[in-house]
Formats: sequence, C-alpha cells, structure tokens
Amino acid sequence: LVKAIDVTKNYGHFCALDKVSLEVTRGEVCCIIGPSGSGKSTLLRCINLLERMDGGGIWVNDELVGYRREGDNLYQISDVEISRQRRRIGMVFQRFNLFPHMTALENVIEGPVHVLGEQVKDAEERGRTLLERVGLAEKANHYPSELSGGQQQRVAIARAMGMRPNLILFDEPTSALDPELVSEVLDVMKDLAASGMTMIVVTHELGFARNVANTVAFMEAGKMVEFGLASEVLSAPKSARTAEFIKAVH
Ligand code: ATP
Ligand code: MG
Repeated sequence: LVKAIDVTKNYGHFCALDKVSLEVTRGEVCCIIGPSGSGKSTLLRCINLLERMDGGGIWVNDELVGYRREGDNLYQISDVEISRQRRRIGMVFQRFNLFPHMTALENVIEGPVHVLGEQVKDAEERGRTLLERVGLAEKANHYPSELSGGQQQRVAIARAMGMRPNLILFDEPTSALDPELVSEVLDVMKDLAASGMTMIVVTHELGFARNVANTVAFMEAGKMVEFGLASEVLSAPKSARTAEFIKAVH
C-alpha cells in the first residue's frame, strides 16, 4: 500500500532524509522508532504531502504521491490533486489538534460533511458509531476542553477514521499524554490494527511495537538504519545502533 524508495529531503544544506526506503503492505502496521531529530516526522510529512521531497518517490495505493509522470519527466501536481491524494490518508499528531470550538461529534463529522460531501444526518450517525468504537459514545457532545488528553486523542483517531482513509499515520500519538492515559489510546490503536487498517506509527512504545507491529523501522540522522519484521528488529537487531537504542528506551 505504501512504498517509499530513496526518499530524500533537504532543509537548505541540512539533509533530513537521506535515501530512506520503506514498504508497508495493506493491513500491516509499521512502527518507526529512532532518536529525536532522526527524520521520523519528516518522513510521515512527506508521505501525506505536508512536505515535498527532493528526491526519490513515494507511492500510496500504487499512485505516485505529489508528482505526475509524463514520459521521463516528473511534474508537481496541483493543490487540488494534492488534497485529493491526502484525503485517503489519516493523520494523528502528538498534540490532539481538535477544533476547540466544536464538540467531539462535530470534530468527527467536519471532514465527512465539508470535504467528502456527506449528508449531516448520515455523517452524524457514522460519527456516533466511530465515537462508540473508541469508547466515547457518552462524550459526543463534549468540547475538547472537557475531555482528558487520552479522550481527546481518541476523538482525534475517530476523526481520522471519519474520512474513510485507507492509511493512517500516527506521529507519537501518546507521548504528550500522562502515563496512565497511554494505554487507553494504544488499546484503540490496537483494535484499529486488528480491524485491518494500514498504519504507520512513530512511537517510543516498544511494547506496542512488539505486540502490534508487523514491521519496525529504526531511523537515525536521516537514514533508515534498519527495517524488517518487528520480531527480528526488536529482538535480534542487526545493527549495533538499533540494539543500543532499544536498550536505552526500555
Ligand atoms: P522527534 O523525535 O524529536 O520528533 P523526528 O525524528 O521526528 O524527531 P524530524 O522532525 O523529522 O525528526 O526532523 C528531522 C530533522 O530535520 C531535525 O534535525 C530537524 O531539526 C530538521 N527539520 C525538521 N523540519 C525542519 C524545517 N521546517 N526546517 C529546517 N529543519 C527542519
Ligand atoms: Mg517527530
């Protein structure tokens, strides 16, 4: 479903991604781990086109992201095309970026109604189902400020699902949460994975990676140091750096 090949991203002279490759099959969960500044968020941002890459290519659903190929030439696609591509990719950030002036339900149906053009009544019905799925049926009419961090993050996941994505990217979805709220969010993500959603998750929760991920990628200094089956990368890493990092996180 997602194939990234030799993705390169520079900020001026600084190389944030240096020929990074990654492949995620439909229905799989890939966890990306690595120290701060290694390029994890940048890679996610390239996948969902919040950032333009300088080299290499990313395919989502067999479609080249951000560019159009004509013969041997590549052309940047228009903003309209970019929104169309981005629409099928959900994103959940570290900071629950809900609209503060909207209730949980309104947050969830905003995209389906305004972007996908669904009828309000239908969107509300499905929105309530999604909130129920993340365990927040009773909080539909609450505003973000009336919800805990874990609840807000679960609304953010329901909102991402509302757009009927075939891929959801998570950027450290639990690292801003109080420790006792982490598991409720990870449990929702685990259910989502079990339902067959394709997910790429930047996280330091190695327990989640071990239990849920099919593959694990270890990045450092803009490079993909190691990428492989979760069981192998976490239990028997090939690279000494990966082993060191895993030991330090524990
Ligand atoms: P963290 O774990 O702290 O979130 P990360 O692995 O997500 O780190 P990125 O946010 O992808 O790292 O950043 C990779 C590198 O690119 C960092 O050194 C960062 O300073 C640099 N960088 C990111 N965004 C920009 C930008 N807009 N302009 C310049 N440099 C940037
Ligand atoms: Mg980051």
